[in-house]
Amino acid sequence: MSIVHNLGFPRIGQQRELKWALESYWRGEIDQAALLQQGENLRQQHWAQQAQAGVELLPVGDFSWYDHVLDTSVMLGVIPPRFAQDDQAPVDLDTYFRMARGRAPQGTDSRACEMTKWFDTNYHYIVPEFAPDQEFRIADSRLFDQTREAQTLGYAIKPVLLGPLSYLWLGKCSTTAFEKLELVDRLIPIYSEILHRLKQQGVQWVQIDEPILVLDLPLAWQRAFATVYTRLSNVGARILLASYFGELGDNLHLAVHLPVDGLHIDLARAPQQLRTVADQLPIYKVLSAGIIDGRNVWTGDLHSLLQQLKPLQERFGERLWLAPSCSLLHCPVNRDNETALDPELLSWLAFAVQKLAELNLLKQALDQGEASVAPALAHNQRVITARRTAARIHHPSVQTRLNTITEAMATRHSGYTQRAALQQQLLGLPLLPTTTIGSFPQTDEVRHARSQFRQQRISQQDYEAVIKQHIQHSVMKQHDFGLDVLVHGEAERTDMVEYFGEQLAGFAFTSNGWVQSYGSRCVKPPILYGDVSRPKPMTVEWSRYAQSLTTKPMKGMLTGPVTILQWSFVRDDQPRQTTCQQIALALRDEVRDLEAAGIKIIQIDEPALREGLPLRRSAWQDYLRWATQCFRLSAATVEDKTQIHTHMCYAEFNDIIEWIAALDADVITIETSRSHMELLNAFKAFAYPNAIGPGTYDIHSPRQPTQSEIKTLLEKATAYIPVQRLWVNPDCGLKTRRWEEVDSALRNMVAAAKEMRANLTQHASG
Ligand code: GLN
Ligand code: ZN
Repeated sequence: MSIVHNLGFPRIGQQRELKWALESYWRGEIDQAALLQQGENLRQQHWAQQAQAGVELLPVGDFSWYDHVLDTSVMLGVIPPRFAQDDQAPVDLDTYFRMARGRAPQGTDSRACEMTKWFDTNYHYIVPEFAPDQEFRIADSRLFDQTREAQTLGYAIKPVLLGPLSYLWLGKCSTTAFEKLELVDRLIPIYSEILHRLKQQGVQWVQIDEPILVLDLPLAWQRAFATVYTRLSNVGARILLASYFGELGDNLHLAVHLPVDGLHIDLARAPQQLRTVADQLPIYKVLSAGIIDGRNVWTGDLHSLLQQLKPLQERFGERLWLAPSCSLLHCPVNRDNETALDPELLSWLAFAVQKLAELNLLKQALDQGEASVAPALAHNQRVITARRTAARIHHPSVQTRLNTITEAMATRHSGYTQRAALQQQLLGLPLLPTTTIGSFPQTDEVRHARSQFRQQRISQQDYEAVIKQHIQHSVMKQHDFGLDVLVHGEAERTDMVEYFGEQLAGFAFTSNGWVQSYGSRCVKPPILYGDVSRPKPMTVEWSRYAQSLTTKPMKGMLTGPVTILQWSFVRDDQPRQTTCQQIALALRDEVRDLEAAGIKIIQIDEPALREGLPLRRSAWQDYLRWATQCFRLSAATVEDKTQIHTHMCYAEFNDIIEWIAALDADVITIETSRSHMELLNAFKAFAYPNAIGPGTYDIHSPRQPTQSEIKTLLEKATAYIPVQRLWVNPDCGLKTRRWEEVDSALRNMVAAAKEMRANLTQHASG
């Protein structure tokens, strides 16, 4: 008899209850007791939902008020000194919230801890800060309390801990740099004590997550695994070591031989590792097969999964455990809450609750024979076959077009120098041209009109009139600021991916498919289910209208193919590369139509290009090759005279700079103000050939930049980039700012650029 278990369940609640509770607490509308009660309700609900779906060993400790890495920091007493806390007392909830977001109902504001992406997901964790003399202690009892809570309800449970090595790996050195790994000796006794206490509470199994086992690890870190787990074995409950998000690869031998009682592997991302792991895993250990994809939303092909599992069952018997590939944190909660999707599309989807039910079905088929669940398996096969052959997925014309892709289609006619000269002739821009990244403030008025329009309370015409008014307003403002290249302001978009997804064929939208992004923030990624094409132009009318209001060049504004792919749930029946090419071709049509409508500059944003990098270095080349090709495929349809821009909200390009150059965008705008332009080093060292607009001020900060601050940054930038190829712009879009802020910041920016220009011409003539 195999066992069904789960690595983690979404914590936000089916209706985002956690979000609402947290935000009311932060606003002071409910007290801490009410918040705690809501948390308890949610945990109970989640355990009940999982038990009902057939999970036999329930995760505890996957619930979190904000983030599970922050939970680990707090449990281990890793509290940066600025959150002054009595270092013997348990950490209180408001200190926890201040670490996460700088502010809580109680206590004084302090700089929040950094946040960064959790492996290759869109979930962000709070980065632990370690001092060289870092001490650890058990500073929080939530894991023990929740263990008791679940036991009292009568559940068989498995507490979940982030492993000591992954925890250290994910943290940063607070002040001086030192080798974080050296802290491990001080950390192990605390982990031992935690394991010991859990055992005393009657816990039989603990899940220790070590996702870094799928990364390229330095030798010292690889070696540390043996030391750590030798010391943690036999001190407490049995250990299931969990790896996920990829293949164990060169850590496989190490992972299977650690002195723990079981190993979880990701078979959705890396099914090819099954055979080796099964062959090498010592016979006494549990093999937890992460067989159902925890990162995507598709119904599993149970028949084919069963074929993989059957030989395992013969070998491992009751030591075969079935699980999702990773925690279900990364998928929406329950498909049953979807009301807007049609039944066919719905049947193709499995959210967290449905994925667990699939596992249960697999277990029954294994334990009692397929005949015992024949109708359910047959239904599953009908769904799988229907999806495979559905007319709404497969559009022969899209596929035929894919076969026509050539390298020439992805290559501009002439090289940059020739293009730049032609573009300059046509555009006549001054030295250090000023522009913005695309969006202007989204006012309440626009949001209100959009929601009225969606509820069919106002007509399309009325809605469009509101948007046009906003375009007019932003064009007028930009004239007033004295900007050289204008934008229409993106008032018509709520989200840079959703706006395009809604207009492209092949995308669907859920009404409740929320996934936690960070803290109380959730996103609802579009579902890309079928061949992508563009039924009609998506942005052309807005850009044409905006251009009609001014003689200055109006920049067309598109979201790039890689970013659309990266921020959606993507179909799993063809390589991501193929899907990305389809999006690229659809955008190519849009680019061509914008050019035909007289738009002389087109920006294709790719903020997600870097985050798409595979976890393993060895896979980078392949990804970068197709990702940059897709960008070029969208862009390179234009004539030499049309200027292509791209934008990325970061500037860590050191390791991929040649690929950034390979995009061959005429102008790239990037984030650099926070690093005081130092991130431009990569561009200088590589001798980046095209034009660059390094962000001259941080739009995320409520602080207004002064003219002289901006000028200082620009002067610094000239040390890295020749002035002829330097643009002047903010770090990112201005959507989240207020008009007053934008007003003063952009005026200062334009003034700084003008001052620089004057100095430069004086130099040149003097
Ligand atoms: N054009 C987009 C905007 O200005 C870019 C957003 C982004 O980089 N994330 O809002
Ligand atoms: Zn940006």
